[in-house]
Amino acid sequence: PHVADLIAAGEVVERPASAAKELIENAVDAGASAVTVEIAHGGMTFLRVTDDGGGIPADQLKTAFLRHATSKLHSARDLEAIGTLGFRGEALAAICAVSRMEVLTCTADAPLGASLTVEGGVFGQVEEAGCPQGTTMVVRDLFYNTPARQKFLKKDAAEGAAVFAVVQKAALSHPEVSFHFIRDGKQELMTPGDGQLKSAVYAVLGRELALGLRPVQSAGEEMTVTGFVSMPACCRASRSWQFFFVNGRPVKSPLMTAAVEQAYQNQKMVGKFPGCVLHLDIRRSAVDVNVHPAKSEVKFGSERQVFSAVYHAVLSALEADRS
Ligand code: ADP
Ligand code: MG
Repeated sequence: PHVADLIAAGEVVERPASAAKELIENAVDAGASAVTVEIAHGGMTFLRVTDDGGGIPADQLKTAFLRHATSKLHSARDLEAIGTLGFRGEALAAICAVSRMEVLTCTADAPLGASLTVEGGVFGQVEEAGCPQGTTMVVRDLFYNTPARQKFLKKDAAEGAAVFAVVQKAALSHPEVSFHFIRDGKQELMTPGDGQLKSAVYAVLGRELALGLRPVQSAGEEMTVTGFVSMPACCRASRSWQFFFVNGRPVKSPLMTAAVEQAYQNQKMVGKFPGCVLHLDIRRSAVDVNVHPAKSEVKFGSERQVFSAVYHAVLSALEADRS
């Protein structure tokens, strides 16, 4: 592969979880109603993402793996969204440059599907293949040709947990899609894909936490906050049960975490960390889109306003429960 591809690869894919994130986003973009993510050895030797979306036409299969190849619209709004939605036309090129990839895909109107292997950025031949409608992407031996990068990978368990977290977040931001996660042959997550956030939350957080969930629903002029918070009795003592989304995109936000925790403190619910799944929808211009697309950070125009909106939304949910 070209040096530029390897550099780009390092930007887009740092570990199995980042490859998984890109492949899942592609599956969702393709209109999938079901997405299955399977890994072995934390995703380092094997990562497979299968979807039942639109598929890739055989004559466009190679192109899809070239840098800056994208079939997605480049409207002004789309360009504005680059900062938040990810790299455009970079992901497949980057992943195939540093792994052994295999794709199997079929569109609705094609009589046969097509397959292609790409190893370290070197293309094989596109061949006819029998397969159901949709796309299967297999990524083997990530970073096998970039040992320096491979050294930074953690143990299987840690890399696998990061992939799992990516699937959980995808499931919570797309309740309309049924997600399956299979680690080393064992199914660890299945969401129904019925379009209800609550169903996805139940599946992801598990019964214990889900039973104590209270709905959060607050609409203001500038932003709306929706989702669920747990009652402290059902809390697990960990912030890993806190999920935040801004305009549908999973983010890490110390600000939103602090707002939630302060609402609990206001209600004298202290001690453990509350669990929550909160979606903040806010005017695009009130969020900084210049943050790195592979990172989940977010910058708000007015931190005070966001803090206050989240704080009050959670507070009302907790108060409603007490009355
Ligand atoms: P981007 O998603 O930014 O367009 P990618 O490198 O992630 O760039 O994908 C390149 C192209 O390959 C996409 O624009 C799309 O046309 C096609 N593609 C990738 N994955 C899938 C998939 N799972 N189903 C259908 N098409 C896909
Ligand atoms: Mg993509």
